[in-house]
Parts: sequence; C-alpha cells; structure tokens
Amino acid sequence: MKVLVVNCGSSSLKYQLFDMTDESVLAKGLVERIGIDGSVLTHQPAGKDKTVINADIKNHSIAIKLVVEALISAEHGVIASMQEISAVGHRVVHGAEKFASSVLITPTVMQALEECIEMAPLHNPPNILGINACAELMPGVPQVSVFDTAFHQTMSKKAYIYGLPYEAYEKHRIRRYGFHGTSHQFVAQSVAELMGKDITELKTITCHLGNGSSIAAVQNGKVVDTSMGFTPLEGLVMGTRCGDVDPAILPFLMKKEGMSVEDIDNYINKKSGVLGISGVSSDFRDIEGAAEDGNERAQLALDIFAYRVRKYIGSYVAAMGGVDAIVFTAGLGENSVSMRASIMEGLEFLGAEICPERNNVRGKAREISVDGSKVKVFIVPTNEELMIARDTKLICGK
Ligand code: ADP
Repeated sequence: MKVLVVNCGSSSLKYQLFDMTDESVLAKGLVERIGIDGSVLTHQPAGKDKTVINADIKNHSIAIKLVVEALISAEHGVIASMQEISAVGHRVVHGAEKFASSVLITPTVMQALEECIEMAPLHNPPNILGINACAELMPGVPQVSVFDTAFHQTMSKKAYIYGLPYEAYEKHRIRRYGFHGTSHQFVAQSVAELMGKDITELKTITCHLGNGSSIAAVQNGKVVDTSMGFTPLEGLVMGTRCGDVDPAILPFLMKKEGMSVEDIDNYINKKSGVLGISGVSSDFRDIEGAAEDGNERAQLALDIFAYRVRKYIGSYVAAMGGVDAIVFTAGLGENSVSMRASIMEGLEFLGAEICPERNNVRGKAREISVDGSKVKVFIVPTNEELMIARDTKLICGK
C-alpha cells in the first residue's frame, strides 16, 4: 500500500510518499511560494538526485497536480501511475474537541474542519485547501485527517480548564488543547518499543524542542498534561514565542507602549522567546555560538530555556506520580548535546542521570542515561509524516 502524506501551509506544501509494506519513503519534497512569484517544487526521489521544478504555482490544486506529475514522471518518478496511491494522509493542525483521533475524511468531517477554522485561522484553511485539491485530483482515493491536537484530547478537565470564568469554556471553548500531538505520540510509542515495553505500562515525559517547543506527560499511553494551550504560544520559551508569562503584562505593555491588539500579538509571537531575550537570533545554533563567544544575553536565553524545561519536567513527574522515561525530540532536542545536558542537570534526584558520552550524539534514536539510571533518558528523532502514514493505513485498512 502506498500512502501520500501531505502537509499544507498557506504558501507551502510538504509531501512524502510511503511504501507501507516496509514504511520506506519513496520520494519526498516541498512546494514553496504557492501563489507568490518564484514558486518552486523541490522533489527528492529516494536514492536519486533532487530535482527543482520552477513553475507558476498559483494555488494548492496546481501544487498537488505538479507533485503527482513528479511522482509519476518517467525521469524522476517513483510510481507508474497515480492509481498506485491508495490513500492520502493530511496533517491538520486543529481538531478542537471534535476529534480525539485521526479520521477518514467525509463531507461531515469537512464541515467540522470548517468549524475548527476559528481556533486556527492561519493553519486550518490551508490544510482544508490541500484536502480539497487532493479530492479534486484523485476522486475516490480515501483521505485521512491527522490532527496536531488529537493525542492531547485524553487530558482531564483539571488539566485543560483555565482559571477563567467557566463561561469562557462553555461559550467560546477556551481551554488547553495542546499541539505537536502527532510528534508526542510517535516518540512516546517509539520509546516504549526501545524499552521493550507497552506504552500502556509507562509514564513518559516527551520533550519536543524545536523552533516551537512543547512538552507532554504521557501516562499509560494517554496525555495527562501538555504545555501548549489554547494556542501554541503557552508553555516553554520558544524561538520567537514567549511561552508562559503573567497575563497582566499584556494590558500593561499595551497601555505603556500604545500597542494595538495586533502589535501585542506580534510582540509575543514573533519578537519574544530566545530571540527577544538574546537579541541574537531565534535559531539555537546561533545563540549557542554567541554564548560561546561570551555574549551574556545569549547565555541567559539558553539558561532560561533549560530552566523552564526542567521545571515542566518536575511538574509532570508530580502530575503523574513518577516517571519511567524522559525523551528528547525535534531540531533542538535531537541535536543539541549541550541543551540536553543543561536541562538534565539537577534532575539526578529523580533517578535520571545522563551519560556524557552517550549524550554526545545528534539525531539518533538511543538511550542517553547511564546504566542503572532509574529513569531512562532517550533521544528519538520525531517522524510526524510516518505517524500520519501509519494512521492513514490503519484507517483505510489495506
Ligand atoms: P520547527 O519544526 O518547530 O520549525 P525544528 O524541530 O526543525 O523546528 O527545530 C529547529 C530548531 O532546532 C532551530 O532553533 C535550530 O537551531 C535547532 N537546531 C537544529 N540543529 C541544531 C544543532 N545541531 N544544535 C543546536 N540546535 C539545533
């Protein structure tokens, strides 16, 4: 069974074609600048050279058509015809309370996705465009929606209701949703496999640390709590997002600086985080470099980031009444030896001790704790596309 995984942004489209008999990637690629001058498709067939196709890609329908043409092309294709694609899996950012797992897309589901737009006005509309474009080009091919929020739907009310008047939840569905769910689920499952256990026997803390970062407490395969909230702004300090702050700072700043709602939104989403603290960059490689050169604010940004992650780990150990495994994933979590070491420093009291030699690795699935560490610590490279392909296969049942 061959599954096409599609992840649509407003002006981009990422794709991977999987052969689910062995979960191998046959081809992957990226369409950029959809609807903007200079649009381009970069197509990478497995084991062959990358091809760059410049074309006028006005919308997502044209983008999908070009992707399928690339997949079946005589020159750089990997399948003989479009009919070989058995199903399409789509990443959808927000499923609100309507979806607690991946679903086969039907007209009723499409209606529900439309209703979720107000929760994710920047993300859900392009996801819907991608689904419509595939349905148009491949009528009759089953399509599955996999949500960033779904895995977190197991949280209990005490974890997801905010300390606001209850009407905020009843009237506007304001609550903690959590994001990166596909990644948290993938790494929690992978760690269980690495430990030779079933996910239902474990208490795991999954740390997805990238440009956007979140952390989740996964007990017996279910999310107990997660750091992102109503939007992906809450929780950890991120590349450009502030994470947890005293909410009273926002009206204070708006008054002091004469900021509009849009200004403050931009300030906390785009200008804050480690970029705002360091004044150097939102990219941790740049910040680590600057800190090594003696930049104090860069070092401060790294210290704040690690301290916040450590505090969340501690609180999630308390929430679950213990922890068996802590796992690091995503760009920073998989690659930054020093950040992992810094986060884990001081957590030895939990029985979590990392081994400096084992930790000295980038992007490999492995245990990094010392032999005999009561709490095991792992790196697991995330693979949201594979998780989407697996769910799509499961739902389409071929
Ligand atoms: P997202 O998917 O949220 O855009 P990623 O998971 O790709 O982000 O992570 C991007 C972040 O990971 C960047 O801040 C980048 O600096 C960081 N990163 C990637 N490689 C390294 C590395 N070798 N050392 C430190 N940070 C790294």
